[in-house]
Amino acid sequence: MEIHAAGSRPTRLAAKESFTGTVWQDPIITAQAPARVNAARVAFEPGARTAWHTHPLGQTLYVIAGVGRFQSKGGPVREIRAGDVVWIPPGEKHWHGGAPTTGMVHIAMHETLDGNHVTWMEHVTDAEYSEKVG
Ligand code: MN
Repeated sequence: MEIHAAGSRPTRLAAKESFTGTVWQDPIITAQAPARVNAARVAFEPGARTAWHTHPLGQTLYVIAGVGRFQSKGGPVREIRAGDVVWIPPGEKHWHGGAPTTGMVHIAMHETLDGNHVTWMEHVTDAEYSEKVG
């Protein structure tokens, strides 16, 4: 058993290679094998978002604050709000982030396969981000 005391692990600024805008990440758990669970609290400022990406074993997002945006490739931009749960199937290309004028915080949960839990792709352009919410 292990307790990670509050305040013992620093909040990290998300990498510019994989995110647009200011995004803060707080680790929850990266379990050692044979466990695979990986989870983080992620806070997006208004307009901030991930790059396009996929997860080998899918991902669950639990929105805990604010209003944000989510899109799967080929689908409409969707609004997501505190209390919403989003399930992204394995291999589905998508992005998530804040809304243009409001921040959004979610708990991201995903499993690791062969040491990898995400495959990063191109950034979400301003034109893509600004598509009408459907
Ligand atoms: Mn994702």
